[in-house]
Amino acid sequence: MSTPGERGAVDRGPERRGGRGGRGGRQRPPRRAVEVASVTKVTPHLTRIVATGELDAWNDGGPGAHLKVFLPQAGGGSVMRTYTVREFDRTEGRLTIDFGLHADGPMTRWARTAAAGDRFSVAGEARPGYTPGAGVRWCLFFADHCALPAVSSVLESLPSGMEAIVFVELTDAADVTEFRSAAEVSVAWLIESGRPGDELVAAAGNTALPDGPGEVWIGCEAGAMRGIRRHVLGELGLPREALHSRAYWKENVENHSDHDTGSDEE
Ligand SMILES: Cc1cc2nc3c(=O)[nH]c(=O)nc-3n(C[C@H](O)[C@H](O)[C@H](O)COP(=O)(O)OP(=O)(O)OC[C@H]3O[C@@H](n4cnc5c(N)ncnc54)[C@H](O)[C@@H]3O)c2cc1C
Repeated sequence: MSTPGERGAVDRGPERRGGRGGRGGRQRPPRRAVEVASVTKVTPHLTRIVATGELDAWNDGGPGAHLKVFLPQAGGGSVMRTYTVREFDRTEGRLTIDFGLHADGPMTRWARTAAAGDRFSVAGEARPGYTPGAGVRWCLFFADHCALPAVSSVLESLPSGMEAIVFVELTDAADVTEFRSAAEVSVAWLIESGRPGDELVAAAGNTALPDGPGEVWIGCEAGAMRGIRRHVLGELGLPREALHSRAYWKENVENHSDHDTGSDEE
C-alpha cells in the first residue's frame, strides 16, 4: 500500500522527473550504473552486496549516509529504495550496501537472490550521514535491523574517549553482530515482541541521559521513532538540536519517505 506522497516507488529516471531535482531546483547528478561484484551472507537476515562500476569521484556522504538504489524492472523503469552506504572504498571504487531481509518488497526480494553480475544503479551522490557535534561526550543510539548498517558505520567513525550506548531491536537473535569502534561501546540487543520498535520505545523509557554534552540518534520504524522522540525531547529534556531521528521504514507503506524525521509532531 502506498500513501499519496509516496507513489514515486517506481522511478522513471531524472529526465522524467524534469531533469532538475525536486528540492530547491537543485540539479541532481546523474545516476551511476553499477554491477554486483560479490554477495555475502553476514547473518541470516543480512546480505552484504559489494558493487563496482561508475563510482569515480562518488560522494559517499560520510558515516551512516544514505543513498538511493534503483533496480531495473522487467517492464521498464526502475524501483527506487533508500539504503545506507555501509562502506565506500574510494581507491578500489567498491561500494558496500547491507540489505536486511525483512521487508516484503521488490528490493528485498532481489537482495535475497542477488548474484555477481546483476546490474543496478545508484544516485549520483549520497545524502549526508551523522557525525556527532563538537564537544559531544556520549551518544545514545536506538536502531532496528535495517538501521544496523548505519549504526555500525557511525560507530566505526567515533573517536576514543566517547561513550556510545546502543539499543538494537532485532527479530532474530541470530542476527547479532560485532561492532568495531574506538569509542567505549555498550550494546543492548533486544528482540522484537509486539509491534516493531516497541522494545526500543520501552528501552528509551528506562534510560537516563548520561551527564555532560551528548546526542541521541534514532533510526527505526516510523511510529516507534516518534515514540522515542517524544520521550527523549519531553521526559528526558534533550535539546532539539541534539536529536537526530529518521524513520527507516513504515508499517504497511512501500518506499516510505527518507525525509521523515518525525518533526511534524513539534
Ligand atoms: C535513510 C535510510 C537508510 C536505510 N538503510 C537501509 C539499509 O542499509 N539496509 C536495509 O535493509 N534497509 C535500509 N533502509 C530501509 C529500506 O529502505 C526499507 O526497508 C525498504 O522499504 C525496503 O524496500 P522493499 O522494496 O524491500 O520493501 P517496500 O516495497 O518498500 O515495502 C514492502 C512492505 O514491507 C514493509 N517493510 C519495509 N521495510 C521493512 C523493514 N525494514 N522491516 C519490516 N518490514 C518492512 C513495508 O511496510 C511494506 O509493507 C533504509 C531506509 C532509510 C530511510
